[in-house]
Formats: sequence, C-alpha cells, structure tokens
Amino acid sequence: MAGKLVKSAGPRARRFVDESRPKVEKAIQDARPKVEKAVEVYRPKVEQAGREAVKYAQEHEEELKGLALKSARMRLGPLGMAIDALGIGAQPAPPAAVPRPCPSCRTTNAVDAKFCSKCGARLPGASEAKGNPPA
Ligand SMILES: [Zn+2]
Repeated sequence: MAGKLVKSAGPRARRFVDESRPKVEKAIQDARPKVEKAVEVYRPKVEQAGREAVKYAQEHEEELKGLALKSARMRLGPLGMAIDALGIGAQPAPPAAVPRPCPSCRTTNAVDAKFCSKCGARLPGASEAKGNPPA
C-alpha cells in the first residue's frame, strides 16, 4: 500500500542518485579543461574590451550620460515622460516673456507692466494689483 510504496521509492531514488553521480562527476571533469581554456582564451579579449570601454566612457562622458538618461527615460515609458514634463534632470525653462499689447489701444507694454503706459488700461494676465492705474 501507500506506506510500502514510499518505503521502496526511497532506496530506489538513492540508488539512482548513487549510480548517476560518477557520470555527473565525470561530465564536470571533462568539461572543466574546456571551460578553463575558454576563460584563458577570452580573458585578454575581455580585458582589452574592458579597457577600451573605460577609455571610451571617459572620452564621451557627457554624451554617454545623455544617452543613459535618454534610455532610462525610454525604459521608464510614461513615467519618463512625466519626468520630462516636470523638467527633472533638465534646466527649467524660463517663464515665457512675451510683451502684451494693450487691449484698448494695442500699445505694446513692458512684460511686467500691469497697466498700459499709454492709456492706463489694465493689461490681461497682470497679477491682481491693488491700487489705481497710474495717472
Ligand atoms: Zn492702452
């Protein structure tokens, strides 16, 4: 019955492991020289490539930083776009400084002017200023 089955499966599994162990060990032994030879052959190439990569990275530091930032943003997908939108990692754009024409007389006033210099009309977009237009 069940108990008997488990009892007989145990030694059988153990025997299987014991029997295959020499094969596995032989396979590892056979493979080791090949692996070591491959490491020996490739090590100088890998080291040379590493030195070249470091040299390239030093010569193109700013460029690579930009590329890394760009690819990081691409990997981030929508989050990267949100970061772009927030201007993180980039110089914040100065607020648009556009001279506003007077709504009444079309005179172009200074960017920070609150009232028209010619007719005294309140200019659109001007912050809520207290007081009267200059006389
Ligand atoms: Zn005006």
